[in-house]
Amino acid sequence: MCFRIVPFVFVAFLFACGQETDRPTVPEAEQASAETAVPAVELPPMGEAVGHFHPKGKPPSEHTKKILEQARAELPFADKRDFEEQKKGFIAAPKSRKIMADAGHVAWDMDRFQFLLESEDFDSIHPSLLRQSVLNTREDGLYEVIPGIYQVRGFDLSNITFIKGKTGWIVFDPLVAAETARAAKELVDEHLGERPVVAVIYSHSHGDHFGGVRGIVDEADVRAGKVPIIAPRDFMDYAIAENIYAGNAMNRRLFYQYGVLLPASPFGHVGQGLAQGVATGNTGLIPPTRIVEKAIEELTIDGVKMVFQNTPNAEAPSEMNTYFPDMKALWMAENVTGVFHNIYTLRGTLIRDALAWSKYINEALYLYGKQAEVMFASHHWPRWGNERVQEVLRGQRDLYANIHNQVLHFANQGVTINQIQNVYETPAGIAEQWYNRGYHGSPEHNSRGVINRYLGYWDVNPTTLIPLSPADSAPIYVEMMGGANKIVAKGKELHDQGRYFEATEILDKLVHAEPQNQEAKDLLADVFEQIGYQQENPGLRNSFLAGAYELRSGIPEGESPKSTGPDMIRAMSTELFLEFLGIRMDSRKAGGMEFTINLVTPDNGERFVIELSDSTLTAIEGFQAEDADLTITIDRADLETVMMGQKTLVAQIEDGTAKVEGNQEVLNQLASTLVEFELGFEILPGTKGPTADADLNPFEVGPVHLGGE
Ligand SMILES: [Zn+2]
Repeated sequence: MCFRIVPFVFVAFLFACGQETDRPTVPEAEQASAETAVPAVELPPMGEAVGHFHPKGKPPSEHTKKILEQARAELPFADKRDFEEQKKGFIAAPKSRKIMADAGHVAWDMDRFQFLLESEDFDSIHPSLLRQSVLNTREDGLYEVIPGIYQVRGFDLSNITFIKGKTGWIVFDPLVAAETARAAKELVDEHLGERPVVAVIYSHSHGDHFGGVRGIVDEADVRAGKVPIIAPRDFMDYAIAENIYAGNAMNRRLFYQYGVLLPASPFGHVGQGLAQGVATGNTGLIPPTRIVEKAIEELTIDGVKMVFQNTPNAEAPSEMNTYFPDMKALWMAENVTGVFHNIYTLRGTLIRDALAWSKYINEALYLYGKQAEVMFASHHWPRWGNERVQEVLRGQRDLYANIHNQVLHFANQGVTINQIQNVYETPAGIAEQWYNRGYHGSPEHNSRGVINRYLGYWDVNPTTLIPLSPADSAPIYVEMMGGANKIVAKGKELHDQGRYFEATEILDKLVHAEPQNQEAKDLLADVFEQIGYQQENPGLRNSFLAGAYELRSGIPEGESPKSTGPDMIRAMSTELFLEFLGIRMDSRKAGGMEFTINLVTPDNGERFVIELSDSTLTAIEGFQAEDADLTITIDRADLETVMMGQKTLVAQIEDGTAKVEGNQEVLNQLASTLVEFELGFEILPGTKGPTADADLNPFEVGPVHLGGE
């Protein structure tokens, strides 16, 4: 089976020890299928979902249709302001909705979501999610925010913004990939006249806001001081670090949150809420040359006055809003977009601070929002007119404050992390605003996130304090329930009655007790699929549909990307690299080993002591051990080729790049303990290795994720 994980998985390649620019490529057949809305697969059996990408795929049930029908009736579809705002200021569409990567594959393809515009409704897509995806699919090129401020939207997961200075452009957030950023600049040149980029601003530390920088500026100009790059406080600490330690787990999890294996289809991937997907081109990072340190800081560049507001530890650990007082324009970075954002991100992040988030929005409202005539951001369309600006700022402020306060209100009355998702509801006044809908975060998973931030995972029931693993607890349930046949029969009954969540409770037990029971896995997949169709939130939808996919087909086997962006490695501190070695070490293999290594990197003046003791690797910066077993002296610039996996440390020693003193054998000992993490670990039982339909491969240039979002 020819499977490759095509998307340029930003986090994984940080630690994958592969070649520098082994760009993932899309096999031709897959490219072809990516161009059609519904990939051609063999016709499903009678009675199954026509046009479904999976032979076992099912159409939405009557129960599911009813739930979506109800949402259609209850949601405020009469409010069409988003549609007006989305198209306002349109200047020009690109000649092609496809952007090619330098490596030859399709980096970006909006045509694959064209099917969303071809029907009013799909009964396998929540109407609210469909609405958001239609809006995102309509984003199509160059837009004027106000004279002097322009955005290219619909070219990537994020927006790229051009502010007109006296002599050139100040660019905010140069997308994910150099290819899409370059294409955006070309569109600007074509319609607004060619002008140089005179400054770049990274609004925050997530990869979709800096990754394409090399498409619009030359690093030599940055180094020469010609083009400043401005970023919020602590930017470099978090641009990479947020995703290192648990990176492989996060990448595996994004197969669920971002539905990486799901094709664009009414039965599969229909968008990501923030935008339709992520470009799969060259990502890079040129470090900022000017950091905004103060809470509020003013700066004039190329005649444009900007007031920065640092907003750390809300949407990102390092982020800032910007006000343009002369233009009465407010840039809200990713703190206020057209969604209820993540407090907890399903792919995994530290839980965010909803209260701090709300307070920064409030501060922006009181400092700038009372004057601003337009508000724009790094995702979605702008808001025009002071009344609308204030409305959206207040609405979003209240959204984050409400979930914070009300969830803790419940928690203080005993509602636990295992109940809050069924107890907390966004108040009607907040929820009826489209920009507050759960297209990235959801009330369900964000409410659990708030409890997790304050109280952690335990619900204080001793049964759940040191619980059995699911595989160990499941057999007793299955035995007591009378065995597989009874559970499958009851599961079918619950499924047919539309009692899907109840069905998951018992079928999950059976699948854990009997991982090879394909009938049970298929039935659980059918249940997951219906729950997926019912979700408004794309991360929840994708997670259920991804679970269904893996239960039916198993985890596809294939290569994971082995690319390591050199920019990302350069941005990784040596300390972080050493700490990650400690995570890669299987401490069970290090029993009895004991050694101390001094590491010296003369070109940047750093020194470390690395100790292996008690089966544990530790590193401390700024010290040297007197009795080290080994002292390694290597320039940090040369160490980077080791960090990228281009050259081993032993090879560096052999050719004299690295100097060593002492017992070199300890390096072999260290190497013998290190494990290479695999991306395709099992999440649902019995899914490792292809089961049925191993040749089915709906994979296409699809959604991937960049750090953090
Ligand atoms: Zn973003």
